[in-house]
Formats: sequence, structure tokens, C-alpha cells
Amino acid sequence: MNHEDFSQRIIAWHQKFGRKTLPWQQDKSLYRTWVSEVMLQQTQVATVIPYFNKFMRAFPTISYLANAPLDEVLHHWTGLGYYARARNLHKSAQFIRDNYAGDFPEEFQQVLDLPGIGRSTAGAILSLTLNQNFAILDGNVKRVLTRHQTIEGWTGGKSVENTLWQLAEKLTPAKQTNIFNQAMMDMGAMVCTRSKANCVECPVQDDCLALADGTVKAYPTPKAKKKIPIKTAVMLVLCKDGKTLHLKKRPPVGIWGGLWCFPEYESEALCLAAIQAQGIEQFNSTLLPAFRHTFSHFHFDITPLKIDVSIIDTKQVMEENDTLWYNLHHPQKIGLAAATTKIITAVNKNLSKEKIDD
Ligand code: SF4
Repeated sequence: MNHEDFSQRIIAWHQKFGRKTLPWQQDKSLYRTWVSEVMLQQTQVATVIPYFNKFMRAFPTISYLANAPLDEVLHHWTGLGYYARARNLHKSAQFIRDNYAGDFPEEFQQVLDLPGIGRSTAGAILSLTLNQNFAILDGNVKRVLTRHQTIEGWTGGKSVENTLWQLAEKLTPAKQTNIFNQAMMDMGAMVCTRSKANCVECPVQDDCLALADGTVKAYPTPKAKKKIPIKTAVMLVLCKDGKTLHLKKRPPVGIWGGLWCFPEYESEALCLAAIQAQGIEQFNSTLLPAFRHTFSHFHFDITPLKIDVSIIDTKQVMEENDTLWYNLHHPQKIGLAAATTKIITAVNKNLSKEKIDD
């Protein structure tokens, strides 16, 4: 393969078909590229756009982000998932404020040292914004390269990843690195897509080995699947006067770290015992529909148990640190775990049904 020719074909394709009007491509800055790249790490462009615009309105500069409470940052991330990304953005913004006077660093190593930024993201930020000569290797680029060169093996494995980095570095041109990197990401997202590669529109179809072999669908090699365990929990949904719900903040590390959630118990009996231990004897309880939330390493089967209490009852409920009454009519700006959002929707449904039944 002629590397120069490869990059030129990709760049020429981008000039005609590449994406040039994405929000973070306007008023380009290291800060805007950084936030967009972090959002795009696990999420598709169409989903990211409204989140990015809202985030930028709330935190127009690194200082705004650094000085905002973490809860507000997590609130703007609610629904995007992988919340460690938001926590790392916030931590990095504070580091940049304290160590670089609020200016995003321009040295590769300094960028790489920020929490939550790997080699590919660091390369993307510096190449896309400042046209510095760094290769990138995100999921889209990995897909294009493994297919084009029929590189076998799971791309998350060290040796396959090293091979891909070497190839990416060889292919990345010294000039127009910014356009080439953007073009590779666009190619992977628009032409060489996960489910249905559109090879007839591909600028590098002439020397694509997987296309020649008829094995496009076999690349990238999927990760060997292992069975993941199932955990179960009953989540206690204390509902005060049909208006507010009792939430507890999760510890900063672990699943849904730092986000607000309903307290969880191993069983319904333990959940009811906890209620009674707080001196509440009279209450209505309703089991809401159970659901499954799947993390990368386990399935979490959750049964929400709604307990209706009144202001008088709740005088007895221990008001521990890191708990709050979430107002269904005037929701607080806080980061909610995915399960919390789902349960709140179920509670609202249940409350409107109760009103109709009355
Ligand atoms: S020819 Fe098809 S499989 Fe090969 S790189 Fe292009 S789109 Fe991907």
C-alpha cells in the first residue's frame, strides 16, 4: 500500500463528503475539541450534539467548568452515560485552572497526563485544533484499518493495538494531519460503518483487502464473549405526599459514582424492615415494574419498591448526609443515575394512574 496515496484519497474524499459543520468545528478551540472528543468517546455524533451545545452554554470556558459544582456538571451529563468522563472533565478543568492559568495545554505529554485522556484523544485534540502531527486510533479508525489491511484479533488486545498504532502513524501525513484525522473518523462513521460498510462509496476500496476477500463483516474481530453475572436489588422509592422522592448520593467510586440514586437492598423484606426501623409503621407499598440495567461486567436486575409516606412520617426518617428529597414538579439540577431516571418515569406513571383511579 502506498501510504501517501492512501492519505490523499482519504483527504480528497473528505473535501467532498466529510463533516464540516459540527458544532465543535465552529469557533474551534482546544476546550471545545476536548469536550467534544470526550463526549464522542462512547457516544454517537447525533446524540452528542444537543449535549455539547447545552454543556457549552452552561460552561463556556474552562474556568466556568472548573468552578462549577460537580453535581451541576453531572446534571448536564445525565443521559450520556459513562459518568467517569464527566468527573474527569471536571477534575481536569480544575487542574488546568490551578496549573496552567486556565489555558488548555498544547504539549502532547501534558494533555495525556490529564485524567480521562488517552493517547488517541490527546492526538485528536491537538491535531484537530492545532494541526499538530499526531495519529489517532479511535473505534472508527480501528474499523477502517482492520478491514483495509485484514488485521485479525480483538483490537483492545495489546499486540493488535500496537500493530494498529504503527499503521496509523505510517498513514498519517505530516501535512494536513487535521483533515486526515477528521476524514478517517468520518469515513468510519459514514462509509465503513459497523453494520453495513458502503464499499462502493469508499475512497480506498481499490486496495481494501477485506473487500477483495469478501470478509468485510469479519472485521474488526469481536471480543470473545464471556458470560456476565446477574446481580439483583430492590430499590427503595420513598415518595412523600406524591411530590418528592428520597434520593441518596452514591459514593464517588464504583457504579454510578457520585450520582443520585435510590437506596438499594438485597430483598423486599430487608427494604421493609429498614422502613420500619425508622419508625414508620403505616404505609402503602407498590412494586413498580422490574427492569435490567447492563454494565460491561454484570447485569443489574432492579425492582423498585414505592413506599408512600406523608410529611408527618418523614419527620422520623433519618436525614443522613448526602440525601435529598427530589421534587418531581421542580427537579433539582443534580446528576441522576440511569436507573434513577427510569424509576422516576415509572413513579410519574404510577402517580398519574393513581390520580385517574381516584
Ligand atoms: S472498501 Fe469497504 S471495508 Fe474496505 S475500507 Fe472501504 S468501506 Fe471499509
